[in-house]
Amino acid sequence: MSAAPHPRYEVVIGLEVHVQLRTESKLFCGCAVRYGEDPNHHACPVCLALPGALPVLNRQAVELALRAALAAHCTVQGRSVFARKNYFYPDLPKGYQISQYEEPLATGGFLDVELDGEGGTQRVRLTRIHMEEDAGKSIHDRAVAGQDGSHVDLNRAGVPLLEIVSEPDLRSPEQAGAYLRALRQLLRYVDVSDADLEKGHFRCDANLSLRPRGASELGIRTELKNLNSFRFVEGALRAEIERQAERLDAGERVVQATLLYDPATERTRVMRVKENADDYRYFPDPDLIPLEIESEALERARAALPELPEARRRRLAEAYELSAYDARQLTESRALADFFEAAARAHGNPKTVANWVLRDVLQALKERSGEIDATALAPEALVGLVRLVEKGKVTASNARPLVAELMQRGGDPQALVRERGLEAVADTGLLEGAVDEVLAAHPEMLERLRAGEEKILNFLMGQVMRRTRGKANPAAVRDILNRRLKD
Ligand code: ADP
Ligand code: MG
Ligand code: ZN
Repeated sequence: MSAAPHPRYEVVIGLEVHVQLRTESKLFCGCAVRYGEDPNHHACPVCLALPGALPVLNRQAVELALRAALAAHCTVQGRSVFARKNYFYPDLPKGYQISQYEEPLATGGFLDVELDGEGGTQRVRLTRIHMEEDAGKSIHDRAVAGQDGSHVDLNRAGVPLLEIVSEPDLRSPEQAGAYLRALRQLLRYVDVSDADLEKGHFRCDANLSLRPRGASELGIRTELKNLNSFRFVEGALRAEIERQAERLDAGERVVQATLLYDPATERTRVMRVKENADDYRYFPDPDLIPLEIESEALERARAALPELPEARRRRLAEAYELSAYDARQLTESRALADFFEAAARAHGNPKTVANWVLRDVLQALKERSGEIDATALAPEALVGLVRLVEKGKVTASNARPLVAELMQRGGDPQALVRERGLEAVADTGLLEGAVDEVLAAHPEMLERLRAGEEKILNFLMGQVMRRTRGKANPAAVRDILNRRLKD
């Protein structure tokens, strides 16, 4: 994947991200927010837009939206207004979507995006963050209640979303990807959203234009809709850069349009051309009063914010003398950073603990899905295992695979080591026996070792390990070998 800049054109990208807020119930009614349940089991008169049904704003959604806005350094508006965005679509029974438009919840703000993994950041400015409701879902590809054909599922209708709009500050598909990852991480840190892409919690529309290098005016943009994986966002943008550049090279104009990306062909295709701006006939929703945020509520939300990823990365790097890369890995999620810090405190040597987390914990996590706090491994258990290694009770190579096992079933590392029969052999008699057997089987080796062939030591150690099923305490074996050398 090449991140080289385009030779002739400057790439300009602005992203609109829709994030599902982590609420119990929908934005304007008491229906539960559930994923993957039978269609239309969570739809009430408000969801269905039955005459006389009135929306009531969900306070929890407002709190989460506030938290997101503060975490992104936005200016929260004391007053914001819910408007009706009118259009016709089968999954929108009201005939309009309730969304903040002219007066959004928050404006401005920024995200510092780490681009190189070495601590260097780029600031991406935000235009606005506003609240809106999700639409329902059309189902074309499977039968519902035994009926073929097309169906509408309203379980998702009215689910609270946040729309986060960036300024056109991004300059490459890779930067766009880095921004999205940073944004998802931030939203998860502050517990605003699970931001699970596979469940549609985090969806992106990407706007792209090209301009000659050095130009100050923005070029004509196209909009890529409904990109539901980071890989697709980057792929779609790369394809669209190609398409626009070909047109411009040929002396043609880019036509403002909405496009779809087909990952199979890696090409973008025009869905509809915007001759003039879509006319949604926005107007304030007469059923909802303006949302007022009092400064007290704002201060409470600000005080409740946890340490944000950027700050935590910097603090960990400094406090524990970690490289920027390691600090970034350890703060990938709030749960992992919490785990690491708890273990580091319990053990006393953060460097040692960092090594175990970066190597063994991360590897074991990669082999399953989910966060560290969803596993049975407690920080104290990891520390216990590390201590057993340090005391020579089990060899490091026998201990490492136990991390995955402790994640699976939890419990006491010492008991697990015993149960697996992995207690290190420190019995000198036993080890001397093993060493002598090995030396007897390879009589020439001792001579070569005496002659200074260093690698022979590894060979002999390996042979002893094999005979003891990896349980020999390496330091003890080395001692015995050294003694035999001097004999
Ligand atoms: P709309 O409401 O039609 O989607 P907006 O003006 O709200 O349009 O812009 C949406 C997104 O498009 C923003 O993220 C913005 O940064 C981006 N954008 C606007 N103009 C351009 C441009 N010329 N090139 C690239 N991105 C742009
Ligand atoms: Mg748009
Ligand atoms: Zn409802």
